[in-house]
Amino acid sequence: MSPDRRGIGMTSQRARNRLVEHLRGMGVSSERVLEVIRTTPRHLFVDEALASRAYENTALPIGYGQTISQPFVVAAMTQALLESGPMNKVLEIGAGCGYQSAILAQVATQVFSIERIAALVNKLRQRLHELRVTNVRVRHGDGRRGWSAHAPYDAVLIAAAAGDIPADLVDQLAPGGRLVMPVGRPGDQELVLLTKLEAGLKVEPLHRVSFVPLVEGLG
Ligand code: SAH
Repeated sequence: MSPDRRGIGMTSQRARNRLVEHLRGMGVSSERVLEVIRTTPRHLFVDEALASRAYENTALPIGYGQTISQPFVVAAMTQALLESGPMNKVLEIGAGCGYQSAILAQVATQVFSIERIAALVNKLRQRLHELRVTNVRVRHGDGRRGWSAHAPYDAVLIAAAAGDIPADLVDQLAPGGRLVMPVGRPGDQELVLLTKLEAGLKVEPLHRVSFVPLVEGLG
């Protein structure tokens, strides 16, 4: 690419830097998370027709009625888990296009991801393979049940909203483990951080958010 063409496309480093500064302005303070957002090619997780919008702080359609999460929400969830304890084994529910999985892969030792729509699972496996992400294991399933074979988890991230926190996922948390998820009804959801303490569960509200619902069964 000639020097004068560099930095023109919306997939350019300049667009990514602008997104990172925007997230910083919204309160994302973890330099590690900001750096991972800066270096992860979000435009490769959406259809080519949407690539020019990939570095806007917005959710975008990924087909099957689902969306790639808004970068702010990905950053906020990742930061909440990263700053509250270890990240050796992380369980992700609702992998979608795999963008959040790729972000987690860079701050965790091992990521286990579940997605209920088979077509998305196939696409996301291929995409992670192409990007040489090797520490994410993907499974087609109903994430509300978790993935007991690899439990306990240091952290659980749920990228779809439910009225309450799925009990199986809390059970699969290690002592001191954290879970982040949107809780509430459409139009009235809050991101919460749950910590599994000896004395019981601590639940802290983080942000108002808008997610697709956590759906029962397979798609
Ligand atoms: N983190 C994803 C967001 C995808 S949107 C990304 O960055 O692309 C939420 C995803 O949760 C959708 O793909 C949807 O199919 C999935 N989902 C909803 N209910 C689920 C369930 N019970 N188990 C697993 N995945 C589920």
